[in-house]
Amino acid sequence: MSELSFAELGLDPAVLEAVSAIGYETPTPIQAQCIPALLAGKHLLGVAQTGTGKTAAFALPLLSRIDASVTEPQILVLAPTRELAIQVAEAFTSYAAKFRNFHVLPIYGGQDFYPQIKGLRRGAQVIVGTPGRMLDHLRKGTLRLGNLKALVLDEADEMLRMGFIDDVEAILAKTPENCQRALFSATMPPQIKKVAQTYLRDAVEVKIESETRTVERIAQFVLPVYAERKLDALTRILEVEPIEGAIIFVRTKAETTLLAEKLSARGHAVAPLNGDLNQRQREQTVEDLKRGKKDIIVATDVAARGLDVPRITHVINYDVPYDTEAYIHRIGRTGRAGREGKAILLVTPRERSWLRTLERATNSPMGAYELPSPVELKKMREEQFETQLLGFAEDKKLAKSMALLDEIAERNEMDIAMVAGALACWMEAMQPGSLPLEQPEALPVVSSTPPPRRDRKGGRPGEFRKGPPKGGYKGRGGPGGAGARGKPPGKGGKPAGKRPPRQSDAKR
Ligand code: AMP
Repeated sequence: MSELSFAELGLDPAVLEAVSAIGYETPTPIQAQCIPALLAGKHLLGVAQTGTGKTAAFALPLLSRIDASVTEPQILVLAPTRELAIQVAEAFTSYAAKFRNFHVLPIYGGQDFYPQIKGLRRGAQVIVGTPGRMLDHLRKGTLRLGNLKALVLDEADEMLRMGFIDDVEAILAKTPENCQRALFSATMPPQIKKVAQTYLRDAVEVKIESETRTVERIAQFVLPVYAERKLDALTRILEVEPIEGAIIFVRTKAETTLLAEKLSARGHAVAPLNGDLNQRQREQTVEDLKRGKKDIIVATDVAARGLDVPRITHVINYDVPYDTEAYIHRIGRTGRAGREGKAILLVTPRERSWLRTLERATNSPMGAYELPSPVELKKMREEQFETQLLGFAEDKKLAKSMALLDEIAERNEMDIAMVAGALACWMEAMQPGSLPLEQPEALPVVSSTPPPRRDRKGGRPGEFRKGPPKGGYKGRGGPGGAGARGKPPGKGGKPAGKRPPRQSDAKR
């Protein structure tokens, strides 16, 4: 993470206020490099992929440079898919939340022209869309770029791959000469380089370099999961893994507290660790983890810097890191003092390209993490219940309890098994989920490789898919967007290892 704060980067106060309300702690590396260059009005060429915080890297400085009181298109963002266009538009809306009379308009193929024309007539400062539909509006004259201050090409290599490059160039040619331009791409194929040479001359180049480092003694796993099922996946991981101490990484301060509360409600000894805590509180939290008063810490990258607790057996990357450096630092919180460690990464469909990057950076492949199947999970819970029940058969109050229940059974002419059953139901009513009666639901399976995409020949740009796929492709919560719905269940295998005390996820 960057040493500079958002306030030191020179952003507009209204933008800064929105960022702090969202809860971002510090700029990600790509933001620390892009924001000053874009604020200075330079063209920018960024080699970055989803998950690095690239949307804010261009949105925050560009919003800081426009005249928010003018309701003409001033920022235009081209994105390869409808899903990304919506996600970027949502991000802009949240970063511009403190501007008055401010509009962000997503424009993409597959949607009726009429509402888009209506939106354009009403006026919008930021337009985000897919190239084909954008070009249609430019040709119709419904979108005018006379006041355009900045153009962003987001995921340029994807636009190339999907056959939109001609449309992109046609739009670039229609933008004013003095318009600031930024191009983001995960890779730099020759055609993209050519576009950059033609339209982004003298651009500042930003690339998040990271050296390869071998991570020994840490077994790395990945679990692809839909954004809205991340909490379910996490609770199951915590249920089946032989955890002594764990650190769970999330992106924002707010999320550390929120997730810690949710896990605490599920019976875990957990505490948040973030930059809002003062030094003493932070030290206390770490001390609690060291001494076993807490088993889990939910932390941001900044707050967990340098954390050294040998009892941490697991690092769970609930949110993907911003860059490979952050990932290597995160997983290095386990496997300390010569011990073994396990790192588990949750990735949403949009973030899957991270896998190869992280594997390259750490020089080791990631294993596919398999959650236990519902049948296995139920069986495990039954065994756990039985073990706990048998433990109470040695309780010193057993004799008195038996006498009491015998009396009740006799008075009411009940079989003693019936009394035991009623007692168990009472226990379930007091603490739902404590009886392993129901088979847990299977989590939808997400493939670890992105699905093949149709190219331009298959339809108009932005129309290659009629609406978001069932599973959804929005990355994550926050301004990045919402989650997704599931797919059919699949098989799973139980990870090896001893079971911790049972934690119920019935209270989800
Ligand atoms: P992106 O790479 O633009 O798709 O961003 C990925 C996610 O990171 C989004 O959900 C953002 O809300 C989040 N994000 C971006 N910048 C920051 C930051 N400085 N601190 C915490 N989260 C961030």
